[in-house]
Amino acid sequence: MYTSEPRYWRNLSEPVLTVLTGPSAVGKGTVVQHAKNSADRMWLSVSATTRDPRPGEVDGVHYRFVTDAEFDDLIDAGKMLEYAVVHGHHRYGTPSDPVEQALADGLAPLLEIDLDGARQVREHAPNARFVFMAPPSWDELVRRLTGRGTETPEQIARRLETARTELAAQDEFDHVIVNTDVSAAAAELVDLMGLSSDTPR
Ligand code: 5GP
Repeated sequence: MYTSEPRYWRNLSEPVLTVLTGPSAVGKGTVVQHAKNSADRMWLSVSATTRDPRPGEVDGVHYRFVTDAEFDDLIDAGKMLEYAVVHGHHRYGTPSDPVEQALADGLAPLLEIDLDGARQVREHAPNARFVFMAPPSWDELVRRLTGRGTETPEQIARRLETARTELAAQDEFDHVIVNTDVSAAAAELVDLMGLSSDTPR
């Protein structure tokens, strides 16, 4: 976990670190990509993970795919802003150097991480902005998770179990975006990040 004092203090004229959390299949990835297209200053953190790449995933773009030993090295070197075991066994974490660099470059970093990770960031950077993405209903979340067809029944069951815990913690967040419509949710996220005046591409 991060050991030295990070510099993520909120200042009206400075970009601020934003953390986005929400259950699997709520649509975080789609909303974030949509938001990014209309906000040039939004910078997406690339997490390190010990899980294997899925077909089509590119190292350094979707994740930094690392071995357990490499993940340990990042932790030991104090270069993980946060990290957690997600969905049972694999580790995911946010390398801190690129986040610091993005802030130094005047960009607005967005971290899409799980509840455990969000709580760690809150501990170290209480002035970061914490956003939760919720489904319109539980039934809709189940539909989205089963409908995408990328998980086995066991993985779906585990993700739904995690989703219950995450949904129960949404009051810990500064803002809740209900993802009923991708464009509307993306606009809300851009607005919350203070990037709505950015020139659309
Ligand atoms: P997936 O394996 O489906 O890509 O991601 C599973 C979950 O891992 C997502 O819900 C996401 O929020 C979480 N996750 C991805 N990157 C990180 C990270 O750097 N830190 C933490 N704590 N969670 C992450």
